[in-house]
Amino acid sequence: MLETLRRIVQDVSAAPDLPSALAVTVNRIRDAMRVAACTVYLVDEDNREYVLMATAGLNPQAIGQIRLDRQQGLIGLVAERQEPLNLEDAPHHPRFYPVREVEEDAYHAFLGVPLIQYRRVLGVLTVQHTTIRLFQASEVDFLVTIAAQLASTLNHAILSGATQELLNPLTIGTRALQGVAGASGIAIGAVTVPHLLADLDDVPDRPALDPAMEEAAFHAAIAAVEQEVREASEQLTPLLPPTEQALFTVYRMMLSSDTLLRDTLERIRAGSWAPAAWRDAIRSRVRLLEQAEDPYLSARAEDIRDLGRRVLHRLRAQPAQASEPITERCVLVAEEMSVAHLAAVPSDQLAGIVCLRGSALSHVALLARAMGIPAVLGLGDRPLGRFEGSTIIVDGYQGRVYLNPDATMRKEYQQLIAAEAELTAELRSLREQAAMTRDGYRIPLYAKAGLLTDIAMVTDSGADGVGLYRTEFAFMVRESFPSEDEQHQIYQQMLTAFSPRPVVMRTLDIGGDKTLPYFNIEENNPFLGWRGMRFTLDHPDIFLTQLRAMLRANAGVDNLRILFPMITTVEEVDEALRLLERALQELREEGWSVTRPEIGVMIEIPSAAWQAGQLAQRVDFLSVGTNDLTQYLLAVDRDNARVAGLYDNLHPSMLKAIAYIIAEGHRASRPVNLCGEMAADPGAAVLLLGMGVDSLSAGAVSVPKVKWAIRSFTLAEAHELACRALLLATAKEVRQLLNDALRQVGLGEIVREYA
Ligand code: PEP
Ligand code: MG
Repeated sequence: MLETLRRIVQDVSAAPDLPSALAVTVNRIRDAMRVAACTVYLVDEDNREYVLMATAGLNPQAIGQIRLDRQQGLIGLVAERQEPLNLEDAPHHPRFYPVREVEEDAYHAFLGVPLIQYRRVLGVLTVQHTTIRLFQASEVDFLVTIAAQLASTLNHAILSGATQELLNPLTIGTRALQGVAGASGIAIGAVTVPHLLADLDDVPDRPALDPAMEEAAFHAAIAAVEQEVREASEQLTPLLPPTEQALFTVYRMMLSSDTLLRDTLERIRAGSWAPAAWRDAIRSRVRLLEQAEDPYLSARAEDIRDLGRRVLHRLRAQPAQASEPITERCVLVAEEMSVAHLAAVPSDQLAGIVCLRGSALSHVALLARAMGIPAVLGLGDRPLGRFEGSTIIVDGYQGRVYLNPDATMRKEYQQLIAAEAELTAELRSLREQAAMTRDGYRIPLYAKAGLLTDIAMVTDSGADGVGLYRTEFAFMVRESFPSEDEQHQIYQQMLTAFSPRPVVMRTLDIGGDKTLPYFNIEENNPFLGWRGMRFTLDHPDIFLTQLRAMLRANAGVDNLRILFPMITTVEEVDEALRLLERALQELREEGWSVTRPEIGVMIEIPSAAWQAGQLAQRVDFLSVGTNDLTQYLLAVDRDNARVAGLYDNLHPSMLKAIAYIIAEGHRASRPVNLCGEMAADPGAAVLLLGMGVDSLSAGAVSVPKVKWAIRSFTLAEAHELACRALLLATAKEVRQLLNDALRQVGLGEIVREYA
């Protein structure tokens, strides 16, 4: 059974498009199970129907024609029950629904299994036979296993829009591709796919601007991979069994294979750029090997693909062809987006950001929010080439994008953009006003910053200072660790720009999804690994350099506060404070006139939350990092689109944890700031105010809206809201409570974003 399954899966993945993949599936299953018919129905969400999409055995004319209402027939029943339905004589079942076009009366035995992926029914797979009999347990197992594989393929096709094109060919262009909201706002622009090519299938077609350079880059990439393989083979051969050692020989043979190299070079000379030429040469080789009946040869197809990726990776590292200059307002679309990438595009030309990976709390989302650029993330696996050359609407509120929208859709979104610009202009009038409740309680409202380019936006937002300056971003856009002098210069600009308002500088917080291009950290669980303070305490050289640069920059300005990220234990704080004293002493000995700034600890790990009081006693303030605290408290990767639905900082456990941290901070007479994204959500900001938080740090773009919300409530109302929220059992109820409260005070306009 395994071998048959493997073969079917292999044939399906080799199919050039979805209709062929479905046709191959039903034919192979019919042959393997020796049944009279095998059929696939797919769900058409738009029309709430199941559509017959492929059949081996029933009338082929019925493909695309037969549409069953969701409640109709045995297909509807399988989908409803979400489990296999095994009937010896289907026409006698009360739910049997005769469809004239397929003449199913002749079939008696029926087995239907749902195609389910991530709790969603995508369709139904059936087999039928002319005799009256029940299918055996092994047959049911077989079909269920195939259905699981098929559902995963179909999910990919659904995400890429392929099924929708099949089901409703005319609606493409008005149909949304659903992801998650990364940064609010709406943008319309031309797609630009940066050269971050993750896989061969994502390589877009491009002409070679200079074929000779493309050829040279290709030869260099092959040579680099040859060396890589040679070195790996020298290191690993003594440790590997002979069968595994043979792999290196296979790689070397492939790399020197005349046909593979010649094929690529011919394609380059015919006008293709090197990555696409290599992609096609690899693909044709893979196809040949997969067609071979010999299991040894078909296993080589995977080796070829692996080799393909390695060479592609090298080609990426030394692109021969510079990216075309970005001339009009564009939407960057990539699988993953690096900070360097964003920084490379002039901000006045960047209209929106779309990432196939990531979720609302990925750092690219935070950065997009800080820059005020609408972003949609987590669209899932889709071929990037499909986006190239399109116009795209990015709806950062709903987490959707529309490719090549029609005129009506475009107009609708243009109106929304205009309405939003109007609201922003209205909120500008609050710039000079304080974040003060209706009864006169003033809460400091700070902004967040990451790059020097943020200075203008933060100043413009009317914030009371910088509540979180993420120093790692300056490290991420460079090619090596910045020197003390370089850092000093950056920090000094930041401090003087806001003096006398405070600037909270967080020490380097790399690791997790924030990696440095020049310092590779490979870990199985990076979010649970060498992050933030754990890294810097292991590298006192890097930590001391940064502290010295900060302290020097503060000399004479005196508005610096330092914040330690990712604190897990009290000992880490003690050690960091010891190093701070050392930096101060060293600098004084060198003749600098430096003072000890206020020091804070980030509470973003549950262990720190439950020791908030003991931590607070050692420092001057606490700052709650709800982005990470949510991830660690709820055990939901902040960067994983699959579980994005579970990630919610309004989860009742989060509210209880925050309330505890505030109480413990206050017991130690220390102020508690909140610097996670939660502070940028106007409803949550009012809730936090009511819970007693002493200051908030929101993204610069959100500062006016948060201020607007705070100015619309009294402290007593906010407090009452907090008391009620703390009694609720679900995040949804909390959201509802906050939205109702916002509507009641006339802030319905911002509720839409936080639905
Ligand atoms: C947080 O975790 O809430 C936070 C502010 O830090 P970052 O998002 O940079 O990890
Ligand atoms: Mg954090």
